Amino acid sequence: MKEITTINNNDLAIAKEIIDNCDTVLIGAGTGLSAAAGFLTDDFETFKRLFPGYTRRYGLRTVAEAVSFYFPSAEEHYAFLARYISAFRCSTPPEDVYTNLLDMVKSKPHFVITTTTDGQFVNAGFEKQRIYSPHGDLSFFQCSMPCTKKLVPNRKMVELMLDDLSENPFAIRSSNIPTCPRCGSFLEPNILESVNFNSIPWMQKSTDYIDFLRNSVKGKLVLLELGVGSESSTIIRYPFEYIAANYKNSILIRVNLNDYLTEVPFADKQTLSYRIDIKEFCSSVTQYV
Ligand SMILES: [Zn+2]
Repeated sequence: MKEITTINNNDLAIAKEIIDNCDTVLIGAGTGLSAAAGFLTDDFETFKRLFPGYTRRYGLRTVAEAVSFYFPSAEEHYAFLARYISAFRCSTPPEDVYTNLLDMVKSKPHFVITTTTDGQFVNAGFEKQRIYSPHGDLSFFQCSMPCTKKLVPNRKMVELMLDDLSENPFAIRSSNIPTCPRCGSFLEPNILESVNFNSIPWMQKSTDYIDFLRNSVKGKLVLLELGVGSESSTIIRYPFEYIAANYKNSILIRVNLNDYLTEVPFADKQTLSYRIDIKEFCSSVTQYV
C-alpha cells in the first residue's frame, strides 16, 4: 500500500493519472465526505449557527446530539426536523467538494454508493440513477408505523413548518405536524436513524449497483473511497477492499485522514491511501483532470 500524507503535486498527479486511464469509477462515500463539504454534525459552532437558542433551551451542543434527542413535544421535534432538513438536505454545502468530485469523474462511466442521507450528490448534479444510498434520504418522509412502504417527498411540508417558526422558533403549529395519509401516524424522515426505517425503496437500487460492479470488474475499475469510517465497513470498506484484492485491474484510492489501513488480505497491494483532507484532494485532483 502506498501511503500519501502530504498534499503535493506529484502525489495528486498519480490519482489523476489513474482516473484518466481507468474505464469506470465507483465512488464509495461516507459521512466524512459530508463533513468535508462543511456539513458538520459534531461541531458546536455549526450547531449554534443553524439552531440558535437550542443550547440554552435544551442543553444540546451538536447536530448529532439533537438528531437522537427526545424533544418535549411533537411540535418541537418537527421544528428541529424542519431546520435540520432545510440546512442539511435542501441547502448547498459551504464547500464545493461534491461539484469538484463530479468534475473529476463525469467523463467516465461512474456509480455512487453512499451511507450519507443528505442527498448532496443529487444536489451537485450526479444522476439519480447512478446513486445507491441504502441509508435513505432526508428529503423523504415515511410512515412511522410503517403502514406502507411508499415514501413522501417532504420539501413542501418542510417549507410550511419553517413558516411556523416565525411565530415560535422552537415549535411548529400542531396542524402542520406531518401525518401519514393512510393511517394517520406521524411521518418521520426516511433515514437509518429513524425507528422502523423503511429501506425497501433503496434496496431495489442494489441491483443497479451489482450490475455496474459486474461489468466494471471486467476492465480497469477505480474504487474511489471518500470519508468512509469503520461504521460502514461492511457496506463499503470491506467490499471495496475485497474487489481490489481479487480483481487485478482494480485499484482502491482511499481518502481518509484516520481510517487509512486495509484489513482484507492482499488489498493493500492494490491500494493508494491518501491521508489528507477530502476537500483538498477533490479540489487539487480536479485541477489536473
Ligand atoms: Zn401509515
